[in-house]
Amino acid sequence: MPTLDALLSEDQIQAKIDELAARLRADYSGESILLVAILKGSFVFVADLCRRLGEDIEVDFVQVSSYGDEHRSSGVVKFKKDADTSFEGRNVLLVEDIVDTGRTLAHLRELFGTRRPKSLRVVALLSKPEARAVPVEVEYVGFDIPNEYVVGYGLDSAERYRNLRYVAVLRESPTP
Ligand code: 5GP
Repeated sequence: MPTLDALLSEDQIQAKIDELAARLRADYSGESILLVAILKGSFVFVADLCRRLGEDIEVDFVQVSSYGDEHRSSGVVKFKKDADTSFEGRNVLLVEDIVDTGRTLAHLRELFGTRRPKSLRVVALLSKPEARAVPVEVEYVGFDIPNEYVVGYGLDSAERYRNLRYVAVLRESPTP
């Protein structure tokens, strides 16, 4: 049986989202924002974040698949679902659950930059700086965490644990 070691509590996460939302409100100073959440992991984060932002907010979703093993992305990114909204002239804010190697985000930043947004920034709840394989700019980071596999608050392992209110390190027990 895998074990869960709590890493970030519900209170810590909610306080951090208050802080991120305050920074975003100040930085965008009332301008409209198009939040583009990267499914599936960021669905919980974007739900909490969007309700703390101002009135002029739209939310859209993209879903990509990357070919790698179960727990690591290869960086070859393919759309399962693209955005429904045009990015042209918009303040696009990509909402990511976790930045690991940075490959997914580097690819999306490059691609979305060609769609002529007014601005393009990224907010990620979690980042694993030690795991970065490609440099990628992330303007707003909630927590830097160690290079371990985490679940909860939208993040899964084989589709489980997304509904946890906290974030935990998932440790697979050694096979006897
Ligand atoms: P990257 O392209 O940065 O390596 O991978 C980003 C994606 O890999 C995340 O959006 C997430 O889906 C998945 N991922 C990376 N690290 C973790 C982790 O620790 N836990 C979970 N559940 N997913 C992760």
